[in-house]
Amino acid sequence: MTGLYARERRSVSTMAHLRFYPLAAVGGSGAYLTGDDGRQLLDFAASWGAASLGHAHPAVREAVDRALSDQAGASYLSSANEPCVLLAEKLLSLVPERARGRVWFGHSGSDANETVARMVVAATGRPRILAFEGAYHGGTVGSMAVSGHPAQQGARAEGLTLVPYPNSYAAGSPQAAKEAVLAHLEKLFATEVPPEEVAAFLIEPIQSDGGMLVPPDGFFPAVEALCRRHGILLVSDEVKVGLGRSGRFNAFEHSGIEPDIVVFGKGLGGGLPISAVVGPEAIMNHAVAFSLQTVHGNPVCAAAALAVLQTIERDRLVANAERSGKALRAALDELAARHSLIGDVRGRGLALGVELVADGKPAARQTALAVYRAFQLGLVLYYVGVNSNVLEFTPPLTLTESEARQGVAILDQALADVAAGRVDEGLLADFAGW
Ligand code: PMP
Repeated sequence: MTGLYARERRSVSTMAHLRFYPLAAVGGSGAYLTGDDGRQLLDFAASWGAASLGHAHPAVREAVDRALSDQAGASYLSSANEPCVLLAEKLLSLVPERARGRVWFGHSGSDANETVARMVVAATGRPRILAFEGAYHGGTVGSMAVSGHPAQQGARAEGLTLVPYPNSYAAGSPQAAKEAVLAHLEKLFATEVPPEEVAAFLIEPIQSDGGMLVPPDGFFPAVEALCRRHGILLVSDEVKVGLGRSGRFNAFEHSGIEPDIVVFGKGLGGGLPISAVVGPEAIMNHAVAFSLQTVHGNPVCAAAALAVLQTIERDRLVANAERSGKALRAALDELAARHSLIGDVRGRGLALGVELVADGKPAARQTALAVYRAFQLGLVLYYVGVNSNVLEFTPPLTLTESEARQGVAILDQALADVAAGRVDEGLLADFAGW
């Protein structure tokens, strides 16, 4: 345990139980983090995707510096400010026509989804919301209330109905997964949940924290058609997989759907706290009643976000996510052929997952050990999934193909060490899973 980390454990309560590694970061550059023990670690987690441009990207640093001096710093909060207006205009240009109304700014994916959950009920007068089992929409009471991840069972909303997310690997084929969930939905509407009482359907276009599940072709178009038929608002939570990570700017574009409301967070600020909800004016006008916070649209965070979006465009990072994602995917597929622990490799672009199984069952212990061993060998990874057995890859969008292969070489060694029993299980004492 390094010195700074030990001090953190004695002084900071935030997420201490979720910190995956006995390490405090003291710096970083691009896809590399520097630990307080001086080690350089290749970062395939990028702070759960928040470090979209990697660490210490000059565009973000310059934008923040400029905003701090030109925009009265972070103190000019109670009226319109330039970065905030420019960012809103930019975001409006990046969503489908039907969502192109107004932008609400928050600080996290959680407060954004919480605002959505309450706003859609108020705007439509319908009391119910649909979301997916395994969905992680946030960690505040209101966002947990519309989530389906096992980590958030405490706070489900009364009007919430959870629908299974199609899991092609578990169901044996994409077609079987799709048909089962669509049949479930039809039955739900015919029995327990009158569709005219449903305000919105919250979707993750790729279900990340639930296990990096990629929807089968045609699944979301069918969901969209149901929503249109019944006047249900379709909300795409792009917090983790959006903003280019999937190899398209919006991850819902892979499904060819057009959501009414789009939620952005994490990578939007490149590490600074900012989120956004974009939707039709008549709906968005209800947001303020539920979410009046002092620092909405903070100019420093908005300037960082604008720099992130401009850099994604200028450096063609959506295409890079697709290209480096292909290299990463190919290297992972190659690993799967050699490691019997790997049951499935899936995802899109730089939003990838590797499911570990042993004897046909989720291999949660081996997953934690692999992540830990990879960390010891110089690679930062997280794991996700309702059974805590999916390695998650959300590296910076700037990742190079060579970095992709380098990271997989480390994982290769880590998996071999786990399989051979060379990893000290005692290390897991401090290492709580989801
Ligand atoms: N939505 C999705 C899809 C997420 O993955 C997350 C975080 N994992 C959130 C919302 C919540 O975002 P935050 O942690 O910034 O509140």
